[in-house]
Amino acid sequence: MERTFAIIKPDAVERNLIGKILDKTESAGFVVAGMKKIHLSVEEAEGFYYVHKDRPFFNDLCSYMSRGPIVVLVLRKNDAILAWRTLMGGTNPADAEAGTIRKEFGLSIGENSVHGSDSPESASFEIPYFFSQLELV
Ligand code: UDP
Ligand code: MG
Repeated sequence: MERTFAIIKPDAVERNLIGKILDKTESAGFVVAGMKKIHLSVEEAEGFYYVHKDRPFFNDLCSYMSRGPIVVLVLRKNDAILAWRTLMGGTNPADAEAGTIRKEFGLSIGENSVHGSDSPESASFEIPYFFSQLELV
């Protein structure tokens, strides 16, 4: 089984949507291998989103991601990376497919409720950014 890294972002945690998002996640066959609720500093958000440092939305993204608690997750499933991207839906909730998490819960292209690794290389950076081996089962 493959592992992917996911975040329930501040907009969703603020609206008490952790349980609803986890319900959709487990119902789709993902196994939670690691999970914790944390509150990032701006610097920690910048480190996580380093690949986007030259994008125009970088500062807004890092201030949004550090404005309140998030839930960080490692999910296990066959083809977890692609399967989680599919369950999340497209970046902009307005354009996301029906039934996806972003379509159901996302507020805008920025405040889109969830994150997911986009490749094995991203997952290999993102998982150890937040979790030690001992925290993954
Ligand atoms: N984002 C944004 N404006 C944009 C594109 C992205 O605020 O025009 C934010 C949004 O929260 C998105 C994150 O930056 O989830 C990372 O962007 P990416 O292109 O990697 O989208 P994702 O992989 O999350 O679908
Ligand atoms: Mg991305």
